[in-house]
Amino acid sequence: MQQNLLDFDAHALAGFFTEMGEKPFRARQLMRWIYRAGEPDFAAMTDIAATLRGKLAQTACITPPEVMREELSDDGTRKWLLNVGTGNAVEAVYIPEAERGTLCISSQAGCALNCSFCSTGKQGFNRNLGVAEIIGQLWWANHQLGRDADGNWKISNVVMMGMGEPLLNYANTVSALRLMLDDHAYGLSRRRVTVSTSGIVPAMDRLREECPVALAVSLHAPNDRLRDELVPINQKYPLKELLAACRRYLERAPRDFITFEYVMLEGVNDSVKQARELVKLVHDVPCKFNLIPFNPFPQTDYRRSSPDAIQRFRDVLMQADIVTTTRRTRGDDIAAACGQLAGQVMDRTKRTQQRSIGAA
Ligand code: SAH
Ligand code: SF4
Repeated sequence: MQQNLLDFDAHALAGFFTEMGEKPFRARQLMRWIYRAGEPDFAAMTDIAATLRGKLAQTACITPPEVMREELSDDGTRKWLLNVGTGNAVEAVYIPEAERGTLCISSQAGCALNCSFCSTGKQGFNRNLGVAEIIGQLWWANHQLGRDADGNWKISNVVMMGMGEPLLNYANTVSALRLMLDDHAYGLSRRRVTVSTSGIVPAMDRLREECPVALAVSLHAPNDRLRDELVPINQKYPLKELLAACRRYLERAPRDFITFEYVMLEGVNDSVKQARELVKLVHDVPCKFNLIPFNPFPQTDYRRSSPDAIQRFRDVLMQADIVTTTRRTRGDDIAAACGQLAGQVMDRTKRTQQRSIGAA
């Protein structure tokens, strides 16, 4: 079988070349072709010796996940459904803005953590994505979207906020992050690459040591009682431990704040009283808040908080000098907004079936 070179970070690619009896600098040369030039065809890599190109064509390939469907929203948001085999598909979403282009990518087919308001969580977990499947989302999107007038890729920022919990697919996520950051690959600054986590505390500590990028933490509740219900992993890593991990992360983070994500669920976590409790909770963590209006999906009873409730909640945080933005809902006409990414997952936990049996 051919080796997919998108599966290798710089270190692994150098190892591959050494095994072939080639010099490690060839790996850097090849990375520039693959990522900076976006070139999938060895024959076009003209500064690489023809014999080596021939060898590579026989043993290796550059293959992103297969695109099953592309959808374009009225607001310019674009969504790709990518086949990751054995009946599973994941989604990647491109969100164009005036100052930047952001790609939101997935890390797992499904998710085991079963947050109560998340459609990915409702599908259960199937498997971790490989490095090629993670970085391949960026490779593919760059290939499709091309460059701006200055010759840079239109995608300037990457957020790991698609399907899955990136820190439960740690090794593959970090290899993909390294390719995003590597000067011979995409060369993005650490500030422009964000990992979003529901709060896997030991992995947050590892990430801080091994590959610190911007961090977003899905908070969603001001106390353990409610968070246990909304984000069940809280039972394992409760708020006190999570916030301590956030403070530790900031010692090495590329930004001097953590972004807290907070989904706004009507009558559940959106009262002024809860906003005040939240202010107290995070008082010793330098942070910004990003309020995400809940995005509905089939099989949910939650409702989105009203614009007034969101405004009142935001005012409480702002009065406490916490910078707070409300996420604009983008791409909801194509179900590309946060938490609506469903892909298509063979649920090993049979969660959907259990639920429908329970409901019958
Ligand atoms: N597993 C990671 C990253 C993927 S989810 C995490 O939980 O952080 C990305 C963000 O979308 C998280 O903040 C998540 O809580 C939020 N989200 C999930 N379902 C949502 C929904 N239905 N509406 C709005 N945001 C949602
Ligand atoms: Fe998984 Fe994140 Fe969805 Fe929770 S919100 S189920 S951690 S993808």
